[in-house]
Amino acid sequence: MTPFIIEQTETPTDPVKRTELLANPSFGRVFTDHMAIIRYSVDKGWHDAKITPRRPLSIDPASTVLHYGQEIFEGMKAYREKDGHVATFRPEANAARFAESARRMGMAELPEDLFVQAVDELVRVDQDWVPSGEGQSLYLRPFMISNEVFLGVKPANEYLFIVIACPVGAYFGSGCVSVWVSENYTRAAIGGTGEAKCGGNYAGSLIAQAEAKEKGCDQVLFLDARERRFVEEMGGMNVMFVRKDGKIVTPPLGGTILRGITRNSLIQLAADQGIEVIEEPVEIDELFAGAASGKYTEAFACGTAAVLSPIGRFVRPSGEAVFGDGTTPGPVSQKLKKSLTDVQGGRTNDVHGWIHRI
Ligand code: PMP
Repeated sequence: MTPFIIEQTETPTDPVKRTELLANPSFGRVFTDHMAIIRYSVDKGWHDAKITPRRPLSIDPASTVLHYGQEIFEGMKAYREKDGHVATFRPEANAARFAESARRMGMAELPEDLFVQAVDELVRVDQDWVPSGEGQSLYLRPFMISNEVFLGVKPANEYLFIVIACPVGAYFGSGCVSVWVSENYTRAAIGGTGEAKCGGNYAGSLIAQAEAKEKGCDQVLFLDARERRFVEEMGGMNVMFVRKDGKIVTPPLGGTILRGITRNSLIQLAADQGIEVIEEPVEIDELFAGAASGKYTEAFACGTAAVLSPIGRFVRPSGEAVFGDGTTPGPVSQKLKKSLTDVQGGRTNDVHGWIHRI
């Protein structure tokens, strides 16, 4: 274990105010009192591990991240379990993905146990911020930036790893979401950075997300960059489809989509219930035809923030693919969502060892 220096804030949020904030948290605007921070330099390696009051960073205007965008992040949650304890969900999986993202972006790799420890230390200090209402949790945002003062284009020699946290409720309201199929923009090409959780992927996707909003949709779906023929993933979540024969189909991990931990967990939970999940390419035209013919009965998005969000319709310039009545979540989506949230909330036996008690 790396020793962390714990610097408690001298101005903690008033408990009454905190209770108010926790009653109805919106996504990503309210933050806890502390943050975890660890520094890296080529000479010293990882050092100076601390929990400090959450405060602005001071970085040089020539800091490399501001110019070349060497930045990666993770998204994970701490839950208030049924028995009152606080636990994170599969943090080792986030640590492993973070290390993979670092490798792809030429950044220093944070040891996976140090990643998990940093998150644990922060959640321990800010544990009163973990809400207990239905669908609520403490969203954790570990991230790393390059921070060398140098304008040369090369992997940096210095990095900052930080974890911040915010109490959150449901990402989407109840019911089904609508999804715009992006035909103008793609997210990731073979050999690119699609599989890394780097800020640049999101920067490049924002215009497509804005287009989705303009078209009256909640989210955007990206197709493959080469042919724009196959479904890849959404701006911030993976996607799955339920077929009439009871099987679930989801695009395979081929380097261009994010290896979602929710995706992986749902594949396992479905298998536990005897539902087969097929990882194979899904053609967008076939999906639209299959929604109309009844071959596909349900669609849903999955991710840490979105949990499992049923999709009512996909929209593209030439028409719509509607699932069910377009507004009522289907039975398979509902059942799988319950299995997942029951594990996360400690309401069911944790047979896969996914719950990490703090
Ligand atoms: N795809 C993208 C592009 C994402 O940003 C996310 C959210 N991290 C996911 C998929 C889902 O990943 P996870 O289930 O690990 O949150």
